[in-house]
Amino acid sequence: MSQLQDRTAVITGASRGIGRAIALELSRRGATIVINYRDANNLSDAQAVLDTLTSAGGKAIIVEADVSTEDGANALIKSALDAFDKIDILVNNAGITRDNLIMMMKPEDFDLVMSVNLRSTWLCSRAAVRSMMRKRYGRIVNIASVSGVVGQAGQTNYSASKAGIIGFTKALAREVASRNITVNAVAPGFVLTDLTKDLPEELTSQLNQIIPLGRWGTVEDIAHAVAFLAADESAYITGHVLNVDGGMAM
Ligand code: NAP
Repeated sequence: MSQLQDRTAVITGASRGIGRAIALELSRRGATIVINYRDANNLSDAQAVLDTLTSAGGKAIIVEADVSTEDGANALIKSALDAFDKIDILVNNAGITRDNLIMMMKPEDFDLVMSVNLRSTWLCSRAAVRSMMRKRYGRIVNIASVSGVVGQAGQTNYSASKAGIIGFTKALAREVASRNITVNAVAPGFVLTDLTKDLPEELTSQLNQIIPLGRWGTVEDIAHAVAFLAADESAYITGHVLNVDGGMAM
């Protein structure tokens, strides 16, 4: 696997969970990291990621921004370009859930999930793609979900946002391919993070039986797949959805 020595990577939602693991893995491979997060109360999480990276010899900055807003997404990309003059890798990872059965789900919960998961992916990609086009190089990796591939009861909003990310990935891949920019998606299965820690007991206890590999994924499982797609060597892979789900979606 190649090293990412001269690469700059922006990772949305990198203060915790899967985004944190992606930041650590890309940094371990030599990339300079822009750690994004949203909630000012969670600055200490982002700071801990920065400290871990820099104490291992890595280079990183933290940018607080709500990427579901146009101003936030533009500010994140501008901060990265001001600091490092280029963005080689963009990982659209920030995401939330607001699960409920459709009859109980409020329109606000649909809109919020679409904004944080799908709109942010579109906004950050739009903001980053201009500079990637100028440099004739880019690797965009969008974090989808097994729920967007096969659907999940209780997640009509979340599944729709993640299926939207898959459609977006393929459309943008076609649009920017001639500029040497690849756009791919990773679709994780169930991974234990803050996002999944409150899933109902009856669902979590059934999961190991319906996952062919018989276990939940780890944040490192997802980070390795992202690093693979972000590598120089993955130049001939675009518009692909890589399921990292223990076989759930096959
Ligand atoms: P997590 O542990 O809850 O972490 C979410 C991260 O996103 C945090 O760093 C959070 O920052 C950030 N974030 C949330 N809203 C944001 C916004 N508007 N602007 C910027 N940052 C924002 O979640 P996770 O489980 O690691 O999930 C990461 C991604 O993987 C998501 O897209 C999720 O849908 C996807 N995924 C997860 C699983 C799973 O089983 N965990 C499965 C499939 C897909 P703050 O600390 O500031 O809130």
